[in-house]
Formats: sequence, C-alpha cells, structure tokens
Amino acid sequence: MTELLQPIQSTKTTCPYCGVGCGVVVSTQAGKIIEVKGDESHPANWGKLCSKGSKLAETASENVYGQVRASQPLLRIQRDQQVAPTDWNTALDFTAREFARLIATYGPDSIGFYISGQLLTEDYYVFNKLAKGLIGTNNIDTNSRLCMSSAVSGYKRTLGADAPPCNYDDLALADCVFIAGSNMAYAHPVAYHRLEAARAAKLGHKLIVVDPRATDTALMADLHLKIQPGTDVMLFNAMLHVMMQNGWLDMAYINQHTEGFEAMAKGLAAYTPKLAASVCAVPEADIVLAATWFAQSSRTLSLYCQGLNQATTGTDKNTSLIALHLATGQIGKEGSGPFSLTGQPNAMGGREVGGLSTLLPAHRELNNPAHVAEVAAFWGVKQISATPGASAVEMFDQLEQGKIKAVWVACTNPAHSLPNSQKVARAMQNAELVVVQDAYLTPATVQYADVLLPATTWGEKEGTVTNSERRISRVLPAMPAYADSKNDWQIVVEFAKRLEVELKKLGVESPRINSGIHAFMPYSNTEEIFNEHRETTRGLDLDITGLSYAVLETKGPQQWPMPEGVSEGKARLYEDGVYPTATGKAKFVFAHYEPVAEEADARFPWRLNTGRLRDQWHGGSRTGTLAEFFSHEAEPVVAMHPADFKRLNLKPSSWVSVKSRRATITLRAKEDESVARNQAVLPMHWGPEFFGGKSGVGGVNALTIEAFDPYSKQPELKHSAVNIQRVHLP
Ligand code: SF4
Repeated sequence: MTELLQPIQSTKTTCPYCGVGCGVVVSTQAGKIIEVKGDESHPANWGKLCSKGSKLAETASENVYGQVRASQPLLRIQRDQQVAPTDWNTALDFTAREFARLIATYGPDSIGFYISGQLLTEDYYVFNKLAKGLIGTNNIDTNSRLCMSSAVSGYKRTLGADAPPCNYDDLALADCVFIAGSNMAYAHPVAYHRLEAARAAKLGHKLIVVDPRATDTALMADLHLKIQPGTDVMLFNAMLHVMMQNGWLDMAYINQHTEGFEAMAKGLAAYTPKLAASVCAVPEADIVLAATWFAQSSRTLSLYCQGLNQATTGTDKNTSLIALHLATGQIGKEGSGPFSLTGQPNAMGGREVGGLSTLLPAHRELNNPAHVAEVAAFWGVKQISATPGASAVEMFDQLEQGKIKAVWVACTNPAHSLPNSQKVARAMQNAELVVVQDAYLTPATVQYADVLLPATTWGEKEGTVTNSERRISRVLPAMPAYADSKNDWQIVVEFAKRLEVELKKLGVESPRINSGIHAFMPYSNTEEIFNEHRETTRGLDLDITGLSYAVLETKGPQQWPMPEGVSEGKARLYEDGVYPTATGKAKFVFAHYEPVAEEADARFPWRLNTGRLRDQWHGGSRTGTLAEFFSHEAEPVVAMHPADFKRLNLKPSSWVSVKSRRATITLRAKEDESVARNQAVLPMHWGPEFFGGKSGVGGVNALTIEAFDPYSKQPELKHSAVNIQRVHLP
C-alpha cells in the first residue's frame, strides 16, 4: 500500500514547549506526522495553539530530523579520540563500568546527573531513583532549577507547600491581574490570549505589569511599572506599606489564617512609596495606584515568571508578592491568588517526583529525616545519603574543581543555557567522563560527550507531564522511535541493571538492600513507573492516588491533588484558609530589598537582561530547524534604547562588543524603544556555535553571572553588568 492509501491515525498528546501545557491532536499516516492541531477538549487551551505549537508537525519531519537528531550511540574510550558509532550494549556496558570504577575510587558523590524539565514525569522518577537509591548520591539536578526554583522556595516559605493555588480559568475570573517579571505574550502565548479575551469581555478589568521593559505584555497593561531591574522587593513592600496606611488590608483573613504579620508590618515601616519611587525609578503615584487596584479589586490574580525567579533575591521577590495576597485575602477564591508560570513543559512533574538535589519523591525534603526514612523504606534501600546534593550551578563548579568526576546530562544543553557557560564548557572538558543522553545533537554540549545515548522525543514518547496549574496530562507516542533511539526511562533502567552488576564486581556497597534489579526497577512500561510514583504521594499535599493512565484518558487531564475516592482533581487550593504548615496558617516573611549581585559601575555601566523571543524555544534544538521561526530575528541582536544607540554612534548595521567580567561577544545592535536607558536586552537562544564554537567565545550565556539565590539556588540570569562598545569588523 502506498503511504497515501494508508489510514490516518489520530493521537491526543501534549505540546512539548512551555508550561501552559496545551493539548494537541497529532494526525499520522504511515508512521509520519502529517498534522498537529490544538485539542479542543484540553482545559489548558481549548483547541488554541501558539506559533510554536502549531508548527510541531514541520519540526518533526524526516528532513529536519535527518539533520539534527542523534541516531545511534556514540562512544570514545579515550578522551583524545573522536567518538565513533557503537551499539547500545557496548555504550551502556562501558558507561556502567566507568561509573562503577569512579564510585569505587572516589565515592558516589563523584557522579552528577543534570537532567531536564523537558523529561516526562516517569523519566524523572527513574533518574532520581537511580541517583539517590542505587548510586547513593544526591547530585541530581535539573534545568528547571533555572526557571522555577525561586517560585518553589517562595511557596514553601509562605504557604507551606510547593503548590500553585490557582487555575487557568482564574485568568477570566479576575478583576485585576498583576503580572510581574513575565512576558506572557511571548513565553506563555496561549495563556496570554486567554487573558486578552477575558479583558475584552470584561468592563473595568485592570491589568498591571511590572517589567523593566515595555514588552508586548506590558503594552497591553492599564498600568506599566517600568522598574529598575531587580527592585521588585522594594516595590512590593511599598505597595503593602500603602495598603496598610490606607486600611485596605483584610484583617479578618490575616488574623484567622496567617501568622507573622506584626513583624512584617514593623519591617514595612521604612518602605514608603517615596523611597520605592526613587529606587525603582517609577512615579510614586503609580505605586499607590497599583496598591489601590490590587487591594480594592474584588479578585486579584498575580502571574509571574523568570523576572522574579531568575535572581539572587528570587525567593524574597516571591515571598513579598505572596504577602500582598495574604494581606488582602486575595487567595483561595476564584480569580485570585499568586500563580507562578513554569517555563518548561514538565518543571512541575520533576518537582513532584523529587528530581532535584534538595528533594525526594512527592515533595519530600532531603533535610527532613522522617521524609528520608519514608523514601528509603519505600524504595527498599538501606539509606538515602545525608550529604546535600549539588544544584545546577554547583554541580558544574564541582565538575570543574574535579570533585565530581563524571556528569550525565539528559535532555538539556548546559554549555548553552547555564550562566557563565564557558566555565560549564571548561568543566565538561576537564571531566573524566561526560555522558549525554539527548534526542538532539546539541552542538554546545554534545561536543564534550564521551558517550552519546540517542533518546526519543516528543511524538515518540509515552508518559505524563504536569503544567503550571498542577494539571497532569498524558503524553502519547504518535510515531515510532527515530532511528536507534530509546526512551529515556528505558535507558536508565538498562543502565541501572548493568551498574548494579559492576558495583558488585568491585565490592562496592550500594544503598540497595534487595538483590536483583527487578525488585528495584522492575518496569516494563511507563505505567508501572507512574503507579509507583502515585503510591509515594499517598496522604500528602499532592496525593494522586485517585489517578491512573485510564482515568487520565477517560476523564481527561486532572489537577492534583486527586486522592483515591475523589472523582476529579482540585481546581483551587486553600479555599478553606487552612495551609499545610505546622500551625495550619500561612506565613508572612518580611524580606528587605537587596540589590542585584553585580551592580552596574563605571567599567560595566550597562544592565544586561536576557530573555526569549516569541518564536524560539530555549536553545533552539527544535524551533531552530524551521526558517519561518527566524522571520522576526534571524540572528542575535542586542536591543537598546534609541538614545543609547545614538550615543554610541551606531547605525542599523553596526556591530558592537558586549563585554562582561566573564566574556565578550560581538554582534549587531538595534534601537528598541521598549528598552530603558542604560539597559540592554539579548535573547538567550543563540549558543557558542553561533559565535565561534569552543575555540572562540561562548554564547549569550557566556556573559551572564552564575551568582544564585541562597534559598532556591536559582541563578541571576536576568541581570549582569556589561560594557557595550561599537566595533568595526574587517
Ligand atoms: Fe505549546 Fe506553550 Fe504554545 Fe501552548 S502556549 S502551544 S504549550 S508553546
């Protein structure tokens, strides 16, 4: 039968890009994707897709994949050799032997796993179990550390659990929406369109946007607070000060459902709108107006993302914003609450299974002995290591220092996306062993791989993901695995079996008690992994014991918690005013304003902000394969205010050098009225390969600083001090 005569099949799955988590329907014929449409029954998007999601068929075509996909395992036995094609058994046997040797020689903390918010929940679960249960190291972290860990710390510090209390329906139910540090129009387009539609339908709707840039999202606002970068805590504290002075607080809510308000009120005394106006560089009257709308609207919803999270004060920013909700009782009801937007498709799922260096399954904490004992018993291991694991930036620091000897990178491109990326590249260059497991041949990172393990990707994989509103969706394969690639979870299970054998040969005692890998990773499909993960949640804040693959497929995507016996997931949290803290009350935590880690000065007088374009996604592995995604920006261009452009005597085709304390890159500049004076904005999508590869300078993130928040460990990708000068290229 010719391909055209073969039946068309339809598969419901989920978009692999942002945390909106839109449902898609994939049509395939003869094992190839011919069309991708929005799923009209999915509650995240009701059939809508953005420019990226609507082009999924094109980016998954055979022609594209032939150029960018990893198709077979590659291996080099010696560091000075080139990698060469090999088979799966050889690649995994070699990796297991080398890991066992390193563990026997240097201990389990000589190993690190750096994984990804693009992995499915089931993949995350087995990676975490491999590291913490079999090897005995907590050195497992994820690129989700770069996008949402400050939101996690903020929720836990104030509300007692890492749980966004809201729901996308709240976009339409709110009377006032407060967006801080998020260009939703570009980064979460379908959620943004839902907000646009709600505003068009609702008289008197108020939209406040806090952003140093006049982004497309800010242009829609009734009030744009164009603050100086990093001054959010000063602004939020001043808004609460105004509310307090005017008697706009919900004292009944504060008294019944919160604690710590007195200390908060004391701390706020100095945070006058006048002081905030001078520090944030916005009019005092605008701060008062923002406080008025926030407090006096009957339903206020906050939406926030990297502008709050990617900062050395990210947790404080989150905490101060949540305090506005607690103080005004704008939480636990329709259209209200602090709603963090996740960047990646499954940043939430990774948190649920504890796939970070600080966590254990089902939001348990590594620093809680009772949690550690519960997980050890659940997994049947003697113990979980008490040594804290390395977070993303720390892991590559330790790799550079030689403390970590081998790193396993899965489904991410750290030499592109981590701050101070040249240091990350140096760390991988110096490592004893680098394993890269990816569907794509990411140029920046794959060049350092001693072992390359080709993985399946969207359209080929099965499992689940959780979007920003706690909604778990099924991910289903629509076509066969590409070339010789394997599913991420299968690679982990097959490796784990080998590693256990090699560890035994060397007499290394792993935390495992039971003999035989089948008792430890007995999985033959993703449903078995999901079911094990589900059991770890029993009785906890994210209890999903009422969920199964069958329920997700028959009832559709569900928000957690959904315990056994309940017919649907929970749309909103804290409706009863009871919080998962020791006292049942939410906490006010006062935070003083602290400036950014690297202030602009005479030598580096510009403030550099890195961000995202509408039609690109992170390192561009997928979006970078389609010409039309480059129609707005074909190459990285540094944007600056027209007056600064003129001051540097630049023309539209001029080149500039952008220099930070870490690196210099050369690129074109453009005038952009959305950018404030003495600030510069660079999209993060272009890596070192664009600027000259490993022998030349690094990519955009070669400029950024690796300083991170002490609580969330999230780096300050949103602010670095740089110098910009015109250069004349030959
Ligand atoms: Fe995909 Fe996000 Fe666009 Fe939805 S909004 S289609 S999840 S990229």
